[in-house]
Amino acid sequence: MPTDQYEHGDPRTRYPDVQPEPQTQDEPGLQSAMDPVPDLGETSYRGTGRLAGRKALITGGDSGIGGAVAIAFAREGADVAIAYLPEEQSDADHVLEQIRATGRTAVAIPGDLRDKAYAQVLVDQAVAGLGGLDALVSVAGKQRWQPDVLDITDDQFEATFDVNVFGLFRLVKAALPHLQPGATITTTASMEAYKPAPDRLDYAASKGAINNLSKGLSQLLVERGIRVNVVAPGPTWTVLQPSGGVDPSTLPEFGSSESPMGRAGQPAELAPAYVFLASDESSYVVGETLNVNGGMVTP
Ligand code: NAD
Ligand code: MG
Repeated sequence: MPTDQYEHGDPRTRYPDVQPEPQTQDEPGLQSAMDPVPDLGETSYRGTGRLAGRKALITGGDSGIGGAVAIAFAREGADVAIAYLPEEQSDADHVLEQIRATGRTAVAIPGDLRDKAYAQVLVDQAVAGLGGLDALVSVAGKQRWQPDVLDITDDQFEATFDVNVFGLFRLVKAALPHLQPGATITTTASMEAYKPAPDRLDYAASKGAINNLSKGLSQLLVERGIRVNVVAPGPTWTVLQPSGGVDPSTLPEFGSSESPMGRAGQPAELAPAYVFLASDESSYVVGETLNVNGGMVTP
């Protein structure tokens, strides 16, 4: 593991190939119960003021990629509100503690993105707790492994799109009245948006929709001085996988068989992409999808 994200070295061996034992949890799962526990950059992420004074709302900020983004944003000088499901409170507490340790404001707003009223509540509480909002980062996502197309029920298909696409759209609409020129919206697609795995059709389709929706939105919102961009992760070791996201028997090869890098990524390796897209360093980057996937070629 690197001492910080700037340590130079061979990317293939920067993190160990996790090769997790088969393991399962109920959705959405607790990261703290995983073996091994993913690296959110707790000991390694070094901030240099790249987001000084920013006010960020991060969905799915309790664990995995969103948790790593929340820690990175706080260490870069942002005040951070995280959203997550109520049953994930213990994972959220870990991230909130990391944010508070930086001296930045941490706001916790549990709730279910499927609840139509929650998006407005979430934004209102974030704005109240942070004293404004200028970075919306949508990382929350639902993924259900289902090998037989006939077993994908209407309920599952709807739930996946409800969290991943409709929930995102409701959130963007609720946030928009608060976003001034200079604000950013960063969404989370996936490698699956381009190369759908046949055992997660609804998830992959929802990720394609996020990518497309974000690019369309970026065209509209740049006229208001708001930049919209996307991060598309490849296989990353998070609780999304052992909580029903993939076939548990495939976990020992998770990432290593798919990615040319020969290993899964860690959430800590995703965070810098989100920092870049929210920071003014990326002032001329709009409607872009930044792929962080260990070398899986995308269109
Ligand atoms: P994760 O389980 O740690 O994070 C997903 C989060 O989504 C959960 O912590 C939860 O807070 C939130 N969530 C799920 N359903 C919700 C609901 N109904 N209401 C509110 N919040 C809800 O896993 P992760 O891998 O860090 O996932 C983060 C994002 O990255 C997701 O959008 C996922 O699709 C995407 N992604 C992950 C991978 C990967 O390999 N891990 C690959 C590509 C894309
Ligand atoms: Mg979680």
